[in-house]
Amino acid sequence: MLNIVLFGPPGAGKGTQASKIIEKYQLVHLSTGDILRAELAAQTELGKEAKKYMDKGDLVPDEVVIGMIESKIDKNADALGFIFDGFPRTTAQAEALDNLLNKKGAPISVMLSLEVEKEELIRRLLGRGQMSGRSDDQDESIIENRIKVYNKETSPVKGFYEKQGKHKSVTGMGSVDEIFDRLCQAIDNIRS
Ligand code: AMP
Repeated sequence: MLNIVLFGPPGAGKGTQASKIIEKYQLVHLSTGDILRAELAAQTELGKEAKKYMDKGDLVPDEVVIGMIESKIDKNADALGFIFDGFPRTTAQAEALDNLLNKKGAPISVMLSLEVEKEELIRRLLGRGQMSGRSDDQDESIIENRIKVYNKETSPVKGFYEKQGKHKSVTGMGSVDEIFDRLCQAIDNIRS
């Protein structure tokens, strides 16, 4: 199996690139942000609970997102591999994911970390907010909080995979196709 963690701050382009990667490598895309927004739209209890955190740009509690990911992995038993987008966002989530995947004998192959300057992140998120209407992309103070939360709680996850020799940095500046080419090169390197 090819299991990829696509990592990077909000606005790094994870969702855009994940859509292209799943098409090329026939993987299943698991985005915790997308799953949470679907729960929210369906007005489930989980969605209502998650909204309190998402509206502020804070992280939804670990046990909620870990449970969600576990059930999605189980539902896709025949998958050739997964691309995890926006997950894991804490070291506890990374440990839980390792446990889940090790039980299946299919550990994470690589973490690809998109590196983008902060000014560019804010510019992209505000642009996306105008197009999509996503409220957490429209308010600059919520965006600032998401980047702060990323730096404090999420960036240590890089070290978690670095220790396993699985972390690769990829420049996330430039055109969508340029970034996609860099990601494909990194994926093809680990497969050869
Ligand atoms: P995203 O679409 O990845 O930017 O996620 C949108 C929001 O969903 C985040 O600001 C968090 O509130 C929540 N969220 C998404 N993924 C996670 C996760 N792995 N852990 C905790 N909260 C998450």
